[in-house]
Amino acid sequence: MNLRAFDESIEARRRALELTPGGVHSNVRLSAPNITFARGKGAWLWDVDGNDYVDYLLGQGPNFFGHAPDVLNRSVADAMSRGSVFGSQNVYENPAGEAFLDTVRWADQVRFGSSGTEVVQVALRLARALTGRDKFIRFEGHYHGWLDNVLVKTVNGIPSPASKGQVESHLTDSLMLRFNDLEAVETALAHRHTEVAAVILEPVMCNIGAIPPRPGYLEGVRELCTRYGVVLIFDEVVTGFRLAAGGAAERFGVVPDLATFGKAMAGGWPVAALAGTADLMESLGTGAVNHSGTFNASVGACAAVSASLAALRDDPPYARIEAHGHALMRGLRELGRRHGVPLRVQGLPMAFHVSFGDPEPVTNYEDLQMLDLDRYHRFAAELANQGVWVAGRGVWYVSTTHAEPELEAVLERVDGALEQLVR
Ligand code: PLP
Repeated sequence: MNLRAFDESIEARRRALELTPGGVHSNVRLSAPNITFARGKGAWLWDVDGNDYVDYLLGQGPNFFGHAPDVLNRSVADAMSRGSVFGSQNVYENPAGEAFLDTVRWADQVRFGSSGTEVVQVALRLARALTGRDKFIRFEGHYHGWLDNVLVKTVNGIPSPASKGQVESHLTDSLMLRFNDLEAVETALAHRHTEVAAVILEPVMCNIGAIPPRPGYLEGVRELCTRYGVVLIFDEVVTGFRLAAGGAAERFGVVPDLATFGKAMAGGWPVAALAGTADLMESLGTGAVNHSGTFNASVGACAAVSASLAALRDDPPYARIEAHGHALMRGLRELGRRHGVPLRVQGLPMAFHVSFGDPEPVTNYEDLQMLDLDRYHRFAAELANQGVWVAGRGVWYVSTTHAEPELEAVLERVDGALEQLVR
């Protein structure tokens, strides 16, 4: 029986609703269970009522080293004791840049920013500047931030604004294609390459579903971009440092022209990066293309990047994460079978998608529409009740701190949640 109480969270929510619209500071959180957390350590969270949670949301991905990692906290606190932003260069920038380029080895240069949304815009701007073309190709279900030219909802293949107040005409900057369909890219570029500056994609579609590229797909897109003089942008905000130290580019052996990073790069610290080849990045340096930001490459951000990437270099966690992810994926499937529910688990062990439904396999956004999203939503809410913190959209992330005790706890709690769900 679940005897958890949530009185303090309910009270915090009541007050939050008075202070801020919807009681949240990011719209993504509007649909999440209303829990107020007091602290986190490693793979665990504790709410204001003292309930514990095994965390597989990781703050939407950033807490790759778990919560409050000692190694990161020490470096960042030490650096921050010397100040934060100086309106000029600080001594933490070069080490962070070196650590980044030693890890993302295909890139020549890096520019740090503050959010994934922002560096995506810089990438698109650079591509336009280089090619003199305006449009970009993107893919259904891929998320590239919340600004007007990239925030869409797609209904029956037709993209439209996902928010009131969005300038609808900005969506005409992009051509929306189906992911994992190389022919669609080939046809679009054959007909319209003179208008297209860039192709931007999540190398593994992770924001809705966890859909890996079909064999040969990324290679094919790379070849087409080269053939038509189009800039290939990998949006590695989720995949960067998570799928491999060098991100999806390393894991799949396909090199983009530009790539954007955030989340796992700095273990929870708000910092993002744009990386690219020298010829593309050059126009930021001449000032021809503008990218600015008061907080870019702040002392704390750079210290967090250096500490995170040093941790990846000194103790590569990928084999451990994969083992944990595989065991968890197997355990979830087994529990689904035992409870007689069509629980689907798909993706890579460090970032996989859990859903209810029959389609096998899910390869694009259209397939995802056939899943029972409401049922998963109810499941996620029950998981929160039982002490498992996951995203309502079904993506589960594994950190370097998830181990045997977490596996045991999560499977026991998922068992309890499924029991409630099928009652
Ligand atoms: N690109 C991808 C692939 C993302 O997953 C996200 C955020 O989830 C973004 C861009 C936007 O990043 P941010 O939330 O840091 O602005």
